Amino acid sequence: MIDVTLESVSKRFPRAGDTAAVDDVDLRIGAGEFFTLLGPSGCGKTTTLRMVAGFYFPSSGRIRFGTEDVTNRPPNKRDTGMVFQNYALFPHLSVAQNVAYGLKIRKVGRAEAKRRIDEALGQVHLAGYGDRRIDQLSGGQQQRVALARALVIRPRTLLLDEPLSNLDAKLREETRVEIRRIQKESGTTALYVTHDQAEAMAMSDRIAVMESGRVRQVGTPQEIYHRPATSFVARFIGRSNVLSLPVVTAGPERVTVALPGGWEVPVAAPAEHGLREGGTALVSVRPEHITLGSATDEGALPGRVTELEFTGMATNLLVDVAGEPVQVAAIDVPAGLAVGDQVGLRLPPERMWVVGA
Ligand code: ADP
Ligand code: MG
Repeated sequence: MIDVTLESVSKRFPRAGDTAAVDDVDLRIGAGEFFTLLGPSGCGKTTTLRMVAGFYFPSSGRIRFGTEDVTNRPPNKRDTGMVFQNYALFPHLSVAQNVAYGLKIRKVGRAEAKRRIDEALGQVHLAGYGDRRIDQLSGGQQQRVALARALVIRPRTLLLDEPLSNLDAKLREETRVEIRRIQKESGTTALYVTHDQAEAMAMSDRIAVMESGRVRQVGTPQEIYHRPATSFVARFIGRSNVLSLPVVTAGPERVTVALPGGWEVPVAAPAEHGLREGGTALVSVRPEHITLGSATDEGALPGRVTELEFTGMATNLLVDVAGEPVQVAAIDVPAGLAVGDQVGLRLPPERMWVVGA
C-alpha cells in the first residue's frame, strides 16, 4: 500500500490556448484509500488521472508515490493498474490470456503466472472463467476481467476512469459494489474518476470535487454533502437551493440572515467567505430538509406551488417564494395539493449552510 501525492500539479496542452486543463491541483491520497475525482465533463479528471499513470507529464508540479518522485517516470515504470470505460480487452483472446497480458510483459514464469491469474479471477468472482472467450461474457463480466487484468500485476495504485459508463443502470450499481469490495480486499490505493455524483458518494472514502481544472473541495461524502464549500459543489452534489440573503449580523462562525418576509435566522458560516453585516450570503439548503405546511404557519415562508412531481418515494415541488424558485422534496404532502396552491415552507436553520458571499 502506498500514498499518492500531487503537489501544485498543472497541465497546459500546447495548442489549447492559455487555459490550463488542470490548474494547480494539490491532493494527498492515503494508502489503501478509495479516492474519487468528481466533476462535470471537461473539468480535468482524465487529464489528472493520466498524469498519475504517466501518460501525460505535468507542465508544472510534482507527483509522488510514497516518498518516490515519479513525475517524469514513464507509465511502465510506475506499477499502476488501469481500468477504462471501454474495457480495452482483446476480444479474440480468452479471459485468462487477457489477464495474463501484464504478466507476460513482466516476464513472470508460467507456474507463477497461472497461480496469479487464478487468484485475480477469484478476486473478481470469475474463478473458472479462464477459458471463456471475451465475447461470451456480459458487459459487467468484461469489466471485471479488465479489473482482474489490472490487479494481477499487483499494482501499487489502481486507476479507474469511468469504468461503469458503458453498463446499464442496474449492472452499474451491482458492479460499483463489486469494485469497492475488490479494492478493499486487495488493499490497493485507488484513484477513481466519474462525473456521476451518486456513484462517487456510494463508493468513495473521500472525494475531490473539480470544476474548470481546479479542485473546489476535498472531503468525505458526508462532509461534501452537508458542508459544501461553494455553491457549485452544493448544486453538483445532490440537489440544493442556494438562496441569496441579506446578512443582518455577522459573527466568526455564524451569521444572521433575513429570509423573505423578514424572519431572521442564525446559520453556520465558514470564516473564509468573509461575510459582513449589510452584505449578502449565499445560503444552501437541501430540498429534503425543507418542510411543507400551510401558508399561515408562523415563521413559514409563504409561496405558491409552480411544479409538482410524484416520484413514489417523495414528491418534488417547485415553490415560488417572492419570485425565487425553491425546490422541496416532501415524503408527505397534503392530499389534493396541486399546482397554484399556497403553501408555507419551513427552513430549519441547523440545516442551512453558507456557501459564499
Ligand atoms: P474530464 O475527464 O473531466 O471530462 P479532461 O481531463 O478529459 O476532462 O479534459 C480537460 C480539458 O482538457 C478539456 O477542456 C479538454 O478539451 C482538454 N484536453 C484534454 N485532453 C487534451 C489533449 N490531448 N489536447 C488538448 N486538450 C485536451
Ligand atoms: Mg474524462
